[in-house]
Amino acid sequence: MTYKQPNERGYYGQFGGAFIPEMLYPNVEELKENYLQMIGEESFQKEFDSLLKDYVGRPTPLYFAGKLSEYYGTNIYLKREDLNHTGAHKINNTIGQILLAKRLGKQKIIAETGAGQHGVATATVCALMGLECIVYMGKLDMERQRPNVERMRILGATVIPAESGSMTLKDATNEAMRHWINNPADTHYIIGSVVGPHPYPDMVARFQSVISEEMRWQLKEHTGNENPDYVIACVGGGSNAAGAFYHYLDDLDVKLVAVEAAGLGVNSGESAATTALGKPGVLHGSKTLLMQTEDGQVVEPYSISAGLDYPGIGPIHAHLFDSGRAQFQYVTDEEAMQSGIQLSRMEGIIPAIESAHALGALGKMKFEKDDVVVVNLSGRGDKDLESYIKWGKY
Ligand SMILES: *Cc1c(COP(=O)(O)O)cnc(C)c1O
Repeated sequence: MTYKQPNERGYYGQFGGAFIPEMLYPNVEELKENYLQMIGEESFQKEFDSLLKDYVGRPTPLYFAGKLSEYYGTNIYLKREDLNHTGAHKINNTIGQILLAKRLGKQKIIAETGAGQHGVATATVCALMGLECIVYMGKLDMERQRPNVERMRILGATVIPAESGSMTLKDATNEAMRHWINNPADTHYIIGSVVGPHPYPDMVARFQSVISEEMRWQLKEHTGNENPDYVIACVGGGSNAAGAFYHYLDDLDVKLVAVEAAGLGVNSGESAATTALGKPGVLHGSKTLLMQTEDGQVVEPYSISAGLDYPGIGPIHAHLFDSGRAQFQYVTDEEAMQSGIQLSRMEGIIPAIESAHALGALGKMKFEKDDVVVVNLSGRGDKDLESYIKWGKY
């Protein structure tokens, strides 16, 4: 048994699958038939690796955070995904998917985005490869994340406001799917996390798995051992966590810690703690845990961090929760913001508020003095300056 890969039909335990309208069947099928073979080809691997190295700036450092370690009485390493081009881990996936889209002969790319980070990463690779790019973004998010909207436009993308529902990420995803249904032949849809119908969750996890691939040899250099005691990562849809966990999933001595956004408190009614509050349901093409009402309506999530503000979770994580393979922690807005300031003051690194949630778990856990703990620092805080300023307590 492996926790890494889903079965033939895209299931991780009871979660996953491909729940799609008939019109999308040919696209998803085309992807499913080709992705493993294409990713496996030597020419693909070469192009992927060389772009990750020379364009994205990989490998990202694994940094021993001395003062943070002292404070928590253990050994804390930060995997510096914040140092990637465009400021987060998302570019690992968009590079992989654009190479796939080119090999499938697609001319147009569509994507959804919440805070705009995935939109920017997609617009970036489209500029790089000369493909047309359309990004759907909730109208409300466009107002909240103006700099990222303009970044996408500078990069040559068209940003289309999603004006349905709460006008946020879930609605942008719905409209991107609708666009794909109407333009199936020439368009590839770059999904930004380990969500969506099979094979997306597996495909995105594979592209992000470079994170734990590097962690293994970097830890070996630092500590003499490839395996840490803990890997901690935040979970919105779960792509940075899937990448940081991937090569450790079947090494049961490595404890995996997934951190969800508890907003104003898990039971406050203003939260995005899917595993604490969710029930099995279907969202955006896969069966997963989902925050929903008694009659199955999606509940609006809330988090101070736009990247974690999602009512579902990738099926791989629903399975890691269900099986007990990963431990889940819930970190509030306030706890995350304090952790963000703590890292800034102690280590001189201003983290993305998403990543600050992963750091917030440190104070909720008990470590031994010689434990090795890796926190995946998924992104940098530049995009969150407004939120830090508004919060104000620094
Ligand atoms: C988008 C984003 C996340 C959340 O997405 P996952 O798919 O859960 O990784 C986390 N951190 C940063 C910096 C992001 O931009």
